[in-house]
Formats: sequence, structure tokens, C-alpha cells
Amino acid sequence: MTGSGKYFRNVTIKPEDSFCIIELDDKGENYRICWGLVNGGRPTSELPSHLMNHEVKVIATNGAHRVIYHAHPANTIALTFVLPLTDEAFTRELWEMATECPVVFPAGIGVVPWMVPGGRDIAVATSELMKKYDVAIWAHHGMFCSGEDFDLTFGLMHTVEKSAEILVKVRSMTSEKRQTIQPDEFRHLAKDFGVDLPEKFLYEKH
Ligand SMILES: [Zn+2]
Repeated sequence: MTGSGKYFRNVTIKPEDSFCIIELDDKGENYRICWGLVNGGRPTSELPSHLMNHEVKVIATNGAHRVIYHAHPANTIALTFVLPLTDEAFTRELWEMATECPVVFPAGIGVVPWMVPGGRDIAVATSELMKKYDVAIWAHHGMFCSGEDFDLTFGLMHTVEKSAEILVKVRSMTSEKRQTIQPDEFRHLAKDFGVDLPEKFLYEKH
């Protein structure tokens, strides 16, 4: 876990000061710090969300997912002020921005409305979404991603954030797209790439 109040950019510069490895007791009620945070401090205030997401994902993926990553990517957060706060809107808009997106996150993206961070309620809301998705966006706050290892999980968040950046650029130029990827084209893509794209995201727009 990164430490509460620590900066992610310092993790590679002074890892022993910036994060820690914790061990939970058998009931998952207490933790102890095994390594790190040598200058004091405690794990991130989002520890409940991290642990609840791990709990859901360890079951959903049969133990394959071992990383839960939370960050505050600017373009994704910006979109939570202009898109409807629905799984359908965020998934479809971000899929449309780059052809790789439906292949990288075919299950889609979940959206949590604004809630007080750090507590149980937002952890429960996020872990509910994590039963279906590997990505959950927190309105006006940030993103959670789940994956098998650091490389895949950081890559997943970069892919979502890059797509969000493209949408911010498009929306900065015009309020309407002149052309985009159509539902039937997504279906063709899904077939050729062997991914399952839920039909609820391939709605007709009017
Ligand atoms: Zn946060």
C-alpha cells in the first residue's frame, strides 16, 4: 500500500518512505506493517476500498487478480463533470475514442457517483462494480483498476486515461463528432478479436 499523504511520484525515488507491505490477520480485521513507511505513517485512507476490491476480485478471477490500483487521472476526472454518470455512457464514449479500448476493457467501466472517500460505503459501492468490471471511476475523484500484475493494471489505467484525453480533445474542438465507430463495427471487432462486448453498451444513439 502507498502511505496516506504520500506522493506516487516518490515511490520509485524513496520506496521505503512512500509505501509499505502489510499483512492481515486471519479474520482480516487487523494489519501489521511488514516493510516500508520507515519514517512513519499509515497505509492510504482508501485501505477499505482496496481490501474490499481484493476480496471481490480474488473470487471473481479465481485468484488471478493481485493488484488494485487507485489514482487521480485528470482527463478521466474532467469527464465526470460532463458525461452522464452511468456505466453505459462512460464505457461507450471511451470505447469510441480508440479502437484498442473495447479489446483492453471489453467488460466495460463502472461509475460510482460522488461519495465521501475513505469509508465503508464507497468501498461497498466500488466492490459491487468490481464484480462485473476491472475499472471503476469515482465521480470528481479518480479511478480504480484491477489486474493480474502491476504492468497490466497500470497499462489498463493508462489506456482508459488516454482514451479520456482524446475525448476531452474532441469535446474541446466540437460538441458533435462528425464520424465515430458504430455499434455494428464494434460487433465485427469483437468477433475478430474474440472478445465479448455486452450489448447494453452498443445502444443506438439518437
Ligand atoms: Zn483518491
